Amino acid sequence: MTDIYSLTYDGLREKLGSIGEKPSRADIIFPAVYGELAGSFDGLPLKEETLDTLRSEFSFGAPERLQTLTSETADKYLWRLSDGCTVESVLMKHEFGYNICVSTQVGCNMGCAFCVSGRLKRRRDLILSELVGQVVGTVLHSGIKPGGISIMGIGEPMENLDNVLDFIGIMAYPKGFDIGIRHITISTCGVVPGIYKLAQSEYPVNLAISLHAPDDELRGRLMPVTRRYPISEVMYAARDYSERLNRRITLEYVMLDGVNDSDECAVKLAELIGDMNAYVNLIRYNPGENSEFACSPHERIMGFYDTLKKHGVGVTMRRSLGDTINAACGQLSAGSSDT
Ligand code: SAH
Repeated sequence: MTDIYSLTYDGLREKLGSIGEKPSRADIIFPAVYGELAGSFDGLPLKEETLDTLRSEFSFGAPERLQTLTSETADKYLWRLSDGCTVESVLMKHEFGYNICVSTQVGCNMGCAFCVSGRLKRRRDLILSELVGQVVGTVLHSGIKPGGISIMGIGEPMENLDNVLDFIGIMAYPKGFDIGIRHITISTCGVVPGIYKLAQSEYPVNLAISLHAPDDELRGRLMPVTRRYPISEVMYAARDYSERLNRRITLEYVMLDGVNDSDECAVKLAELIGDMNAYVNLIRYNPGENSEFACSPHERIMGFYDTLKKHGVGVTMRRSLGDTINAACGQLSAGSSDT
């Protein structure tokens, strides 16, 4: 049996061909699977014989929901995958609508010093059906269809980019979730080849880069990935992305008390950005357990904000959603084996 959620639209066409069915049946099946979230082939306008073949060839394998934690601003879902691994996704409730934040790996190897998810060793990449399953499962449970997707849960999406691109294709499918690529965002810690690959892909979605420091020395201490891809290379790739696609890049910057929040850092950051089409998204640091870091005080965040503004840089503050249920940035920590 093939899990229907493991196939792209083209993959489904191919599979139908290989079992002696018309590939064009995909135009009936895909809208039912993703538009109506039918969960079965019952009632499709196809011959009973065809339906029987479909039933014997395909399964609908959404992940098992282990837990949902609810708050005013976000609901956190814990999923159990077929091999017993667990991952988390978050339904974020913004004033302007709903977003689902998905994980891309079981655990994460990037080892960012301030991030809880980074302490879980990466066990494996999520496969397409597991990426799709987080959204399907969340929508079926909540009854809410998201207006946008944030690919910024546990894991580094650029290390699993082929599956992530297939996933985006399914999210964007017009007769399904129909989420425009401008409502989908990938956040990367700065894996440079992934940025170029995304730029050339069919789905150049919004790009957010976790920068968090304006020079390699400090960034290297916070984010080991800096040793592989120094800031100059990351910024070069970001500029290329924004120019080639005429898009504004987001630079994420988590405010760590006494670490990266000085005015000097803000000035350096502004110089780094220069005339690039980018803005800075300041993120309040969400402390994890036994964290050696603290969030900058509010006045310092505002000071940093003002300094960036004074230097002509666009700045926004990320509203922290879900911090009361440990569902905010850097607080997702599932990803080990059986829970
Ligand atoms: N691996 C990707 C996506 C996951 S993290 C990336 O690094 O971008 C999503 C965002 O949350 C990143 O900007 C990350 O640096 C930030 N983050 C991690 N830990 C955090 C914490 N404790 N508080 C606030 N933001 C955090």
